[in-house]
Amino acid sequence: MSGERIYVSHATADLTLVQKLFSTVKNFPFDVHIALEEVESRQSRKRLEGRLANSDVAVPVLTERSMDSPWINQEIGYAQAKGIPVVPVYDDASHRTGFITDVEGVSVDRTDPAVTIFNILSRLRSILAPLGALSVPNWYVQFPCTVPDCSHPVQLEIERSQTKLWKLHRHSTLLETACENCGSTYYFEPATIGFVRREGPTH
Ligand SMILES: [Zn+2]
Repeated sequence: MSGERIYVSHATADLTLVQKLFSTVKNFPFDVHIALEEVESRQSRKRLEGRLANSDVAVPVLTERSMDSPWINQEIGYAQAKGIPVVPVYDDASHRTGFITDVEGVSVDRTDPAVTIFNILSRLRSILAPLGALSVPNWYVQFPCTVPDCSHPVQLEIERSQTKLWKLHRHSTLLETACENCGSTYYFEPATIGFVRREGPTH
């Protein structure tokens, strides 16, 4: 897993929701394009179409507000025609219309974003993980150590299954990884893979 391209299309009014749902997905070594973070003009939308064509997965975010967007439906149709897997993320199952009525997606739980983020990661993992070489961890997050003057690359390898990660979440058990250079420990929430805190270095 590395460099897989994820194309997220959504209504302008849903940008805040989309940013919340994809904040940790963006920490993975993916190339995440959130369509409307780009300039919304006919011209730039055309360029986005090129990006969509080169994506490994398309994620339309479907809400009451996206129903009227001709772009989103067009992008779904385009992805399907190109054989790009589509993962609809929807407020209500009825928002999956046309091409994707029966496509397995993720229902948005507005009261518990962690559930939604977990389910998005699960779907992405089942679609994208097989692309990774067997010799490298299928799923990981890498970031520079935040200790001043360290900046050593730290990697959180996620070898556990999604089922196991959800169990850890329910038991409030955090994932942890250490910086090999300074010895500080980083903790992450297992369902969302969101950063929780850093401890150390102790010396
Ligand atoms: Zn460090």
